[in-house]
Amino acid sequence: MTKTALITGATSGIGQATAHEFAKHGIALIVCGRRQDRLDALQKELENHCRVHTLNFDITDREAVFKAINSLPEDFKIIDILINNAGNAHGLDPIQDGNLDDWDAMMDSNVKGLLYVSKAVIPQMTERQSGHIINIGSSAGKEVYPKGNVYCASKHAVLALTEGMRMDLNPFGIKVGAINPGLVETEFSQVRFKGDHSANDVYKGFAALQPEDIADIIYFAITRPPHVNIADLLVLPTAQASATLVKKEL
Ligand code: NAP
Repeated sequence: MTKTALITGATSGIGQATAHEFAKHGIALIVCGRRQDRLDALQKELENHCRVHTLNFDITDREAVFKAINSLPEDFKIIDILINNAGNAHGLDPIQDGNLDDWDAMMDSNVKGLLYVSKAVIPQMTERQSGHIINIGSSAGKEVYPKGNVYCASKHAVLALTEGMRMDLNPFGIKVGAINPGLVETEFSQVRFKGDHSANDVYKGFAALQPEDIADIIYFAITRPPHVNIADLLVLPTAQASATLVKKEL
C-alpha cells in the first residue's frame, strides 16, 4: 500500500531533496514550510509522481502546528513517516556576544518545533502501533565547536529526544532514528549569516555534501525491512574530519 510521509522544511535544502526522492518512489507527501510560493511550486513539480498536499505553518507556533496537522484531508490523515527536518542555525557568535533572538529562534524551531510536530503526529502512530520518525540532527549534536554554543545545544537536544522517543515508543513498534549530517550545501549558511557574503565562503574549496546525498540516505533508512531501524547515523563530506577540520583546496 502507498505510504504517506510528512516532511517539515520541504521548501529548501534537505527537506526539498527528500520530497523529490520520496516522490520518485510514489510516496504520498505532505510538504510543510512557511513559504507558500515554494510549496506551490513543489506541489506542481511532484504531483505527476505522487499525491501531494501542502501545509503552511511555523513549527514554533504551537497552535498553528496542531491546527495544520488536524486540518489534513481524509486521504492524507494517516501519516506513516514523519521527517522532522525543519530547523536552522541563526548566528555564529561567542556565547558572551550571542543574540537573544537568535537563541530563541534556534531553541524554538530545532527543539520545541520538532516536539510540537511530533506531539501532533505520534498519537495516531501509537494507536496504529506502527510508524517511522526520522529526526534530522547534525554533527553539531555530537560535537560542539567554537561559537556553535546554542545551535550545538539544540542539536544535542535533538539527539537526546531521538533516544527518548525511541525508548518511549518502543512498546508500540514505532521506529525512531536520527540522521546527522556534517556540512551540506543548502540555504543553511544564508540563514545563519542572515544573507551576509561570508555565507558564500562556507562551502568553498571542498566538495560539500549535497541535499540529495542526505535525501538518498533518508530513503535508504525508510526502506529497511520491518526488523531493521537505522537508529543514529553520522554522515560527513569526505573532506570533513570534524567540525573544525575540513581539507580545503583554496
Ligand atoms: P535550509 O535550506 O535553510 O532549509 C531549512 C528548512 O527549514 C526550510 O524549508 C525552512 O522553510 C524550514 N524552517 C526553518 N524554520 C522554520 C520554522 N520556524 N517553521 C517552519 N519551517 C521552518 O537548511 P537545510 O540545511 O536543508 O536544513 C535542514 C535541517 O538540516 C535543519 O534541521 C538543519 O539544522 C539540519 N542540518 C543542516 C546541515 C547543513 O550543513 N546544511 C548540517 C546538519 C544538519 P521555510 O523558511 O519555508 O519555513
